[in-house]
Amino acid sequence: MKDADLERFPSLLFVTRQDSSEIVFCNNYTVEKIGRPLNAIVGSKLSSIVTHATEVFFESYMRPILVSTPFFEEALITLKTHDNRRIPCVANIAVNEGMLYWSIHFADKRDKLYQELIEARDNLERQAEQLSLLARVDPLTNLLNRRAANNDIQILVTRLQRQFCPVAFLLIDVDHFKHINDTYGHDAGDDILVALASILKNATRCSDIVARWGGEEFLIVLCNSDFQSTSDYCQRLHESIHTLQHNDNQTLTVSIGVMQIREENQALLEQKDSLIKHADNALYRAKDAGRNQTCFAEFKQHQPSLT
Ligand code: GH3
Ligand code: MG
Ligand code: MG
Repeated sequence: MKDADLERFPSLLFVTRQDSSEIVFCNNYTVEKIGRPLNAIVGSKLSSIVTHATEVFFESYMRPILVSTPFFEEALITLKTHDNRRIPCVANIAVNEGMLYWSIHFADKRDKLYQELIEARDNLERQAEQLSLLARVDPLTNLLNRRAANNDIQILVTRLQRQFCPVAFLLIDVDHFKHINDTYGHDAGDDILVALASILKNATRCSDIVARWGGEEFLIVLCNSDFQSTSDYCQRLHESIHTLQHNDNQTLTVSIGVMQIREENQALLEQKDSLIKHADNALYRAKDAGRNQTCFAEFKQHQPSLT
């Protein structure tokens, strides 16, 4: 094999002095890729063909290692070309008799692949977030669905068992919704559910739970709300829902069943399902009593008559 054959290797090869970083040899491939004539490279310092950041990295990190070790592998460096383009590269360096022998490969395609990999991973993470969000949200009203609400209630109950504050579980059911559907059509019914969901969402704090419990039934958990605050809240809710006019200027009403948890009955938190059952029973009483009102499951002596 002739010496000239070495020039056929598609990698940048050059030699620098270990003490002064002067370039004493470079192959044609280096000349071609850097875009400067051979005599402008040979005799110049390493800093003429690498970026300032690479120079600093070399002086502060690579050079000390190369004093005690004869090899440095896979150094990530950046070359700069005659027209100031930056090319990310991977360099292997061997030390021999005061000289550093550099063998360099371009890594821009690898960098691009790496970037694409990072982007693909970010996309997947975003999609996973969206999916888990979708799994929690009711598509019609954008409120939490029943499963997500159950999950959040469990988390809340665990928190309350550590540090108690009064909470209220509200089941809200639209009055005579079947009649609305039958009279104005299913789509009009859907629009009303969306508008109602927005009233419920706007009436509650971020820390509260607002969910579509099923069909035309909603669940709200008011955190840090005592009996009086809950009563006031339900009263306000009846009023604002009453202002929601739909087809033919009809007004909408709901019935609400409430299970109020206070310090004295906090043991009930241990039976999550029965909390909702109590609220459901109270809801039936509100329906029986003529609808468009709130009934409390407990402490009947304090029960307000809300209409
Ligand atoms: P009540 O006052 O006793 O609650 O009477 P109601 O008519 O509201 O109750 P009922 O349970 O008889 O009817 C509920 C209706 O809600 C029947 C069902 O078709 C309707 N519904 C359930 N889900 C949806 C929905 O997503 N969109 C629409 N438009 N209607 C729904
Ligand atoms: Mg109903
Ligand atoms: Mg119902």
